[in-house]
Amino acid sequence: MQPLRGTKDILPDENILWQYIRKIITPILSSSNYNEITTPIIENTELFQRSIGKGTDIINKEMYSFSDQGQRNITLRPEGTASIARAFISNKMYNFNSVNRLWYLGPMFRYERPQHGRQRQFHQLGIECIGSHNPIADVEVIRLATRILNKLEYKKYQLEINSIGKIEERAIYKNILVNYLQKYTNDLDKDSKVRIKTNPLRILDSKCHKTQEIIHYAPKLISCLKSESREYFDNVCELLNSLAIPYNINYNLVRGLDYYNDTAFEIKTQELGSQDTICGGGRYDSLIKQLGGPNTPSVGWAIGLERLIMLIKNEFTSTNNNPYVYLINQNLNTQKYMWTIMNILEEQNIKFELDLSITNFSKKLKKAYKSGAKKCIIIGENEVQTQTMTIKDLQSNDQNTIKLEMFIKTSHFN
Ligand code: ATP
Ligand code: MG
Repeated sequence: MQPLRGTKDILPDENILWQYIRKIITPILSSSNYNEITTPIIENTELFQRSIGKGTDIINKEMYSFSDQGQRNITLRPEGTASIARAFISNKMYNFNSVNRLWYLGPMFRYERPQHGRQRQFHQLGIECIGSHNPIADVEVIRLATRILNKLEYKKYQLEINSIGKIEERAIYKNILVNYLQKYTNDLDKDSKVRIKTNPLRILDSKCHKTQEIIHYAPKLISCLKSESREYFDNVCELLNSLAIPYNINYNLVRGLDYYNDTAFEIKTQELGSQDTICGGGRYDSLIKQLGGPNTPSVGWAIGLERLIMLIKNEFTSTNNNPYVYLINQNLNTQKYMWTIMNILEEQNIKFELDLSITNFSKKLKKAYKSGAKKCIIIGENEVQTQTMTIKDLQSNDQNTIKLEMFIKTSHFN
């Protein structure tokens, strides 16, 4: 039996790393007043069609959609922002705070060709700063992404940023770009030839070498931005400078989703091969209104956790998953006494493994050694009668019997 193509089990040893990431990010995000939100994994297909936009890869070919028993069109979420925007509107979150700072972590689903750094079920950590049109909000979210990477001790990343302006500015640019590209139609890659008609801006993002060369000499989107958009972008850059976050302006950076405007950014690495983006984000000022909510300018990003894990796992020295104590007992009577000992260990936060084998004492002891535990607690009839416990050190093989009350008072394992 194999898991579905493009999906993967996260086994207990790897989950230690996932728990570690949660432990690092939670205080960072909470300190800036970002609070965790959990939305359903399934949503109406229409939500994504209306937000991500027709002509995007996600909508055209990557959605896991089905109709349920009630003939509703349902989709496994391909990304987080649309769901958050929906939740913001459904729960009327605008009534409680003028700015809502939220974060989420969970699985996303896209029907893509599985390869290194690309799965069909993958996880994103994302944050959204909802309700502000101030450049410092853009820089607040970017700062948090870099802070998380720094805290995880990952340094080899590059921040790229661009402004994709407003819809009207992009519309003007689209014409200019299409005009330019039409001279080279024959030299473009297959996808880009189609995109000239469906979504020309995405051509800027093409990975094909020849197309990139053509794009290199193409007119730039920034030349179509009016003073308001330019000023916004300049302010974002100036705030980044003041924070000393290094960045490159990449005039060809566009995002694969339609709802973005003005600021667009990505955090990349050279250590992942062609799937080189760890984090993608930007500003989305019209999404919430477009979905039927109040006018609520917002900005956010998402980090692909599987990619992040590939980057940090070699440096991560895992604490092992073994129990500290192995608990051996003899029969039903000694088992009843075991609950008390388990309660004490729990109170002291000591990881234990209760022996479940139905076999003789020496075989049980062998299991204790095999478990990787440091200590073994042995409970026989004698221990029950005298209210004691026998502790065997599995490294030195020293053994001693102590009173239960002594064990409660003085933590014997510290
Ligand atoms: P890419 O160009 O790599 O496909 P994207 O623009 O589709 O990225 P976003 O929608 O911006 O990606 O998602 C944010 C992040 O989520 C990406 O930077 C990446 O780290 C991760 N991600 C996206 N798709 C996948 C996938 N299929 N498998 C694993 N991680 C993914
Ligand atoms: Mg993609």
